[in-house]
Amino acid sequence: EKPDWLSRALARAGVFPQKEADDAIRAGRVTINARVALMPLAPVPPGSVVRVDGKVVPLSAPATRVLAFHKPAGVLSSTVSQHRTGTVFEVLLRQLPPDLAGYTWHAVGRLDVDSTGLLLFSNDDKFVAHATSPDTQLPKRYVATVFSTPDEERVEPLRQGMTLDDGPARPATVRIRDEHTVEVTLTEGRHHQVKRMLGAVGLPVRALHREAVGGIELNDIPEGTYRLLTEEEVRDGL
Ligand code: URA
Repeated sequence: EKPDWLSRALARAGVFPQKEADDAIRAGRVTINARVALMPLAPVPPGSVVRVDGKVVPLSAPATRVLAFHKPAGVLSSTVSQHRTGTVFEVLLRQLPPDLAGYTWHAVGRLDVDSTGLLLFSNDDKFVAHATSPDTQLPKRYVATVFSTPDEERVEPLRQGMTLDDGPARPATVRIRDEHTVEVTLTEGRHHQVKRMLGAVGLPVRALHREAVGGIELNDIPEGTYRLLTEEEVRDGL
């Protein structure tokens, strides 16, 4: 993580929401290494001692936080929170309480604009890099609603490993759920991958929904809302 600026460091530490932190800083109540800091954007170098009204604020390294978000259709997935109008960040960030709003969030991968379902976010860019690395092979489970009726013979190439425009795909786990629904689990995540694989075997996708990433299930998180994962879920589920 980069060094934080002062008001964000205070918000992250749970001392105040960032706006109140700005006011306290401008009022001269905050010191960094025993010097009064009047600028909310003052950098806080690692190892600094920050005090508010003379009391030391514990600024331990932030824990890895992971949010499970239910992406609605029609909202664009971007991976960083800049330019967030019309994106998942706009929907997510306005809901976060002050202690979570103080972090910089990164999306763990992407979903197509018309896809719905589980999208994870983390404050820890190393965690995001690991989770999205092709070497990690984190399984992602999708449910595709298809226009034609699937049968075992048609979906077999997905299980064998098919060759796409951008190279060979790893074998997928496929289960036919009913006459219009196919469950596909991938250990990679290339652009439009599920749609391209099913499209190539004559099963064009009408709707795509992600139910699980690693051991994390979307379950009953309402569309457009999120749940903060527990430390155990982050440690054991991903
Ligand atoms: N595969 C797709 O085709 N689209 C997604 O959004 C995710 C996986």
